[in-house]
Amino acid sequence: MSTFRLCPACGSSKVTMEGLELDSSPAKCKSCAWTGTCNDLVLHEIDPERLYAIAFAVAQDYLRALAKIAAIPIGQAMTASGLIDGTEPEMLARLIRAAIGGAHKATLEEVAKIQGELQNAKPS
Ligand SMILES: [Zn+2]
Repeated sequence: MSTFRLCPACGSSKVTMEGLELDSSPAKCKSCAWTGTCNDLVLHEIDPERLYAIAFAVAQDYLRALAKIAAIPIGQAMTASGLIDGTEPEMLARLIRAAIGGAHKATLEEVAKIQGELQNAKPS
């Protein structure tokens, strides 16, 4: 089983903790306005088999967020740099999709690399 820490107000796992342990260190939720301590967080055990499905859902959310938030700035960077003049919207859209897909893939590969490094750093 893997243990996750969830917001006691909304149940989100998007919580930040200043401490690494469940103690009185400050914690807050990125999904709602809750703030408290690490002691207040709800511990939730998840079967490892469900982790893949959860990771896939998070990766899909990340891809949607990239497309929604980054598409326009990426397109602006492409036209500002002279990579494309912006007069061909279909070509610009194709390049933006490629950039978002590349950023998504590179991020997930780096996450996997970091997770591997953390796993290897754990004392056995
Ligand atoms: Zn919350």
